[in-house]
Amino acid sequence: MKVAHFTGLRELKICEVPEPKLNQPEAVLLRIDRVGVCGSDVHYYTHGRIGQQIVEYPATLGHECSGTVVEVGAAVKRLAPGDRVAVDPAISCGSCDQCRAGRVHTCRNLKFMGSPQQAPGAVAEYYVMPAENCLPIPDSISLDQAALVETLSIGLHAVRLGEVYPAARIAVLGAGPIGLSVLLCAKASAPCTVYMTDLLDERLQVARQCGADWTGSARDDDVAASIAAQEPSGLDLVFECSGDPACIDQAQQLLTPGGTLILVGIPANTVQVSFDIHTMRTKELTFKNVRRQQGCVAPVIRLIGQRQIDPNPLLTHRFPLAEIREAFELVAGYRDGVVKAVLDVSSAP
Ligand SMILES: [Zn+2]
Ligand SMILES: [Zn+2]
Repeated sequence: MKVAHFTGLRELKICEVPEPKLNQPEAVLLRIDRVGVCGSDVHYYTHGRIGQQIVEYPATLGHECSGTVVEVGAAVKRLAPGDRVAVDPAISCGSCDQCRAGRVHTCRNLKFMGSPQQAPGAVAEYYVMPAENCLPIPDSISLDQAALVETLSIGLHAVRLGEVYPAARIAVLGAGPIGLSVLLCAKASAPCTVYMTDLLDERLQVARQCGADWTGSARDDDVAASIAAQEPSGLDLVFECSGDPACIDQAQQLLTPGGTLILVGIPANTVQVSFDIHTMRTKELTFKNVRRQQGCVAPVIRLIGQRQIDPNPLLTHRFPLAEIREAFELVAGYRDGVVKAVLDVSSAP
């Protein structure tokens, strides 16, 4: 089968390797149909590491995928060959203190698809996955949309942590795939007002298509002042989705006393960020951190299936596997209005 091997910074090639064998009764063999290119994949591609996670070459990448079941293990009852699935890429151990406490996303022994030294990347024609990580999708959901389910599930997890309630006044700082996922999930959860900022006008346009009530360019304007002019008493919730430490400062200014900042974005080049202790203290702000998601994959499939979330505005580009380099370079360069580029691995409709 074909698999993408990353061999150095900005270097990759498509190689021919043996297909993986189904070797566990609780696993399934999947044909991988689509793989979304994630900001984290691109960061590994251009920098070779994220924090303490360091790539060893040759590496495989990718975790946002949809597929079709080819073969099921003897103990698998819930899936059958031919089922189309969205994949939850986080394989938890089920037995550590975190798993036993229901926090499978902070499992001590987590194996995440395409993370260095954890589990192989999804950019391959076939993949063996625990059946419980494969969630069937209805006919109304396309394989492209299913490749967005993991990204959307992070948005839903953030929205649940933020406890979005009716009439909440919200800012989402950063309109990349994660910020847009927060927007879609917030709007699907409760009627609320969402202010959205980004450096890229194309992304703000997508944000308006996805239901943002107001958008402002962080490049040209003092967006915090513009939002404050419309919401003089401040916002209830701010979702920081840009990873830019400057936005953390902005968020603290935007929040109303008693408000909550939800940190979703991953600062790529910084280990430490600072907080204004007096703003935090006098406004009695709450900060919450998001580690990917927990239990939100099935609810997102339901929300897309019921048309409460329309992820199509995020699906801006699709490339055949042979053009994987173009896909990664496009996302790395934020070119051509890209929000989510999807690799079409199987050519299945
Ligand atoms: Zn991702
Ligand atoms: Zn565990």
